[in-house]
Amino acid sequence: MGSAGRGLVLVVEDEAAIAELAAMYLRRDGFGVHVEADGAAALATVRRLKPVAVVLDIGLSGMDGIEICKAMRAAGDWTPVLFVTARDDELDRLLGLEIGADDYLTKPFSPRELAARVRTVLRRASGTPASETFECGGARVDVTSRRAWAGDAEITLTSTEFDLLTYLVRHPGRVLSRDQLLSAVWGYAAAAGTRTVDVHVAQLRAKLGVHSPIRTVRGIGYAADAG
Ligand code: CA
Repeated sequence: MGSAGRGLVLVVEDEAAIAELAAMYLRRDGFGVHVEADGAAALATVRRLKPVAVVLDIGLSGMDGIEICKAMRAAGDWTPVLFVTARDDELDRLLGLEIGADDYLTKPFSPRELAARVRTVLRRASGTPASETFECGGARVDVTSRRAWAGDAEITLTSTEFDLLTYLVRHPGRVLSRDQLLSAVWGYAAAAGTRTVDVHVAQLRAKLGVHSPIRTVRGIGYAADAG
């Protein structure tokens, strides 16, 4: 265990070889790493060690990764979560939920890529040191405090949802492609990932409700309209 310079990452993985490889690359990147193979133990570790990020394998015996994340969110814990999934049906289940999946990787993955994704998730979570508020339609964000509102009601967003909404409302009326949003918000041009954008937009819309300024631009991407 032991937390190195970048903070402690909890890796929840029941395949020891994969866990070791992930831990090795994360440590090489300056993270402390703690590994759990079991869901209930992982949840207890999240509470006890307060990691800066959690890498969660979905396919665990007993309590699976999605249930762990749900339990964290239900307890008000929005620690960034990077899911690891081996099967398409797991991914479909994950994408249908609003549990604040900050990112996901499918197996087999490169451990170097995993470490890079963890860094990206944390960079997003650390926020922008600007003192500004942006508003578009019924949505408002304060990038200093990283708070967001739908109409007059404050809403709780994951770090990814917050960054996505901020990017959209900072470019009102502009049509943004999924690839543009991926590289601006996720920080990498993911060949795998335009579906990620759709999932996070769906989560944002659900949270913003009637105040959502986000318009789908068929075949291209999205735009935020002042309305
Ligand atoms: Ca597994």
